[in-house]
Amino acid sequence: MTDKQSLKQHLLQLDNRGYKAYKEIQGSYNFDEFTLIIDWVQGDPFASPSKFRVKIPPNIARIPCELFQSRSREIALRDYLTRQFDKAARHTSSKRGTGKSGTIAVTRLGQEVLERTSALIVSSNTSDSEDLGGVEMRFSVGLPAGGRSILGRQAAEMLCEDIPRIVSLSLKYSSLNAAECRRHVETVEDADWLREQLAEKRLVAFVADGSILPRRSGVDNRPLLNDAVAFVSPPSLKVEFNCPNRGLIFGMGIPAGITLIVGGGYHGKSTLLRAIELGVYNRIPGDGREFVVTNPAAVKIRAEDGRSVAGVDISPFINHLPQGRDTVQFYTENASGSTSQAANIIEALEVGIRKFGNEQCTGFNGCQSDGSRKKEEGKGNEEQERRKKEQDLVPVLLVDEDTAATNFMIRDRRMQELIAKDKEPITPFIDKVKQLYADCGVSTILVMGGSGDYFDVADTVISMDNFQAYNVTEKAKEIANKYSASRAAEGGESFGEITHRVPVPASLDPSRGRRDVRVKVRDVDELAFGNEEIDLGAVEQIADSGQLRAIAAAMVCAKQQYMDGKRTLSEIIDLVMADIETEGMDILSSFPEGDFAMFRRFELAAAINRLRSLSVVAKR
Ligand code: ADP
Ligand code: MG
Repeated sequence: MTDKQSLKQHLLQLDNRGYKAYKEIQGSYNFDEFTLIIDWVQGDPFASPSKFRVKIPPNIARIPCELFQSRSREIALRDYLTRQFDKAARHTSSKRGTGKSGTIAVTRLGQEVLERTSALIVSSNTSDSEDLGGVEMRFSVGLPAGGRSILGRQAAEMLCEDIPRIVSLSLKYSSLNAAECRRHVETVEDADWLREQLAEKRLVAFVADGSILPRRSGVDNRPLLNDAVAFVSPPSLKVEFNCPNRGLIFGMGIPAGITLIVGGGYHGKSTLLRAIELGVYNRIPGDGREFVVTNPAAVKIRAEDGRSVAGVDISPFINHLPQGRDTVQFYTENASGSTSQAANIIEALEVGIRKFGNEQCTGFNGCQSDGSRKKEEGKGNEEQERRKKEQDLVPVLLVDEDTAATNFMIRDRRMQELIAKDKEPITPFIDKVKQLYADCGVSTILVMGGSGDYFDVADTVISMDNFQAYNVTEKAKEIANKYSASRAAEGGESFGEITHRVPVPASLDPSRGRRDVRVKVRDVDELAFGNEEIDLGAVEQIADSGQLRAIAAAMVCAKQQYMDGKRTLSEIIDLVMADIETEGMDILSSFPEGDFAMFRRFELAAAINRLRSLSVVAKR
């Protein structure tokens, strides 16, 4: 391995040569306090920037081990260090020539604290520093060029002066703000802890008092600055927790079952639901929603007309389409509002729930009696662990009327009179939502300002009034008794069967031209997979472009490793997720990737399900 001085010499010698000569600097370099690794060098100044890493050993980084001793803390610390590096890099780097010349950048960061491959903690095994952590940081560098020739002196400055300065400012514990770092780590640990407590209290979400839910604008996810009304729980829904770091915290607990959020237009309903949707992830301190936590399997469901659907059994909701179209294996290139919403629900159930129909369901809030639950406590730990894992996957559905198909949500008395049941393919959600809970343990939180018919099926009704929440359950029940909706229930005896699907391996093809794998990600909503474009604009719980990058890689892994024409989609996703859990996200790429962020099985399934070439066979 050569040192910093020789790298500098080399760069100065490269001055004015053609850009391709930069390839020569690929390799590892011993800097005074860390190792610089140049994994990959870009082909020209306009291409994606070059991939770099620095490794700072524990005796230099000196990060106290209590900051990474639990999994939550470690993930939070990695996120924190990435943000510090980002700040220092923005401050230090500047444009130095054509194209991307001069940039030094880590992965893009938003409000969420996610497990990211941008930073890793390296613990030491030498005895003199065994309580300290080191850091590996991955980032990209736009190697400088004037036109297409190398700017050697600028490159030497960037690599041999700027990078050491950034490292020194952001990755050495002595230069960090210790209190802020601790707060980051403790906040995330508390949020994870809170999320774990939900099931035991039979809650699906918790919104802490004092939370700031509204965002600065439709394109700015930071908290609204002025005029934001802080959240206060209605007294009758108030719960308390004693967090490991923060101590007592109060807020609104949303119980398992069916919850309506009602209220006038512009009174904060959607803002509350949006915070709950993203409560499956942790947020940075100061976000305002850092203690809004949601069941980890909560899935936003919406209408998404125009999407493709591949062989999904939407028959629990939709039957007898015109022209005799099959809804047991429903294929379309262009779904309607209602069929897309039905497919979105069934697809979430397909990867979330293990058993259906007459077999016992596994939802914590579902059909198991207390008696059977007690019996289970006698069984081995392993069995309990397995059950707990399965329970963690049972979806909670989140629906907002703003993005739902009206004819999927409601069908009132008058319409039932005019259009007979046998002329209407759709069984509306209102007739299925109770069965979902009773048969499968699937809870629903539904924003519905427009139809009081739902009072009949709701367990809890929360009203938003001037951005304040009230528990109006009793009143809604009284009204439901006073004015009958007079609807005929159309849902039948039970929710119905969920048919698992086996993907046809050839229908997922990441290759393009001569390249075996060509995947490309744009922001959080577009993914190019081989020759296909996947539109994920309606998959609202992909919060970070790094998640989509990792999803793209996981799709390739799913195809190459596990799609064999026999396994179901759900089994394939289980295997991929288990690999990531045991080996880390690095198994998704052949070189050290700094731009992956952790995602959920639901979003991986969502991407596969939106691939227009996907074809499946039903597993009966
Ligand atoms: P609804 O779904 O009830 O029609 P929204 O949730 O879309 O209402 O909110 C309407 C507007 O009010 C949005 O601009 C939102 O940012 C803002 N808003 C929501 N909650 C609050 C709050 N707690 N304090 C201040 N403004 C809020
Ligand atoms: Mg709304």
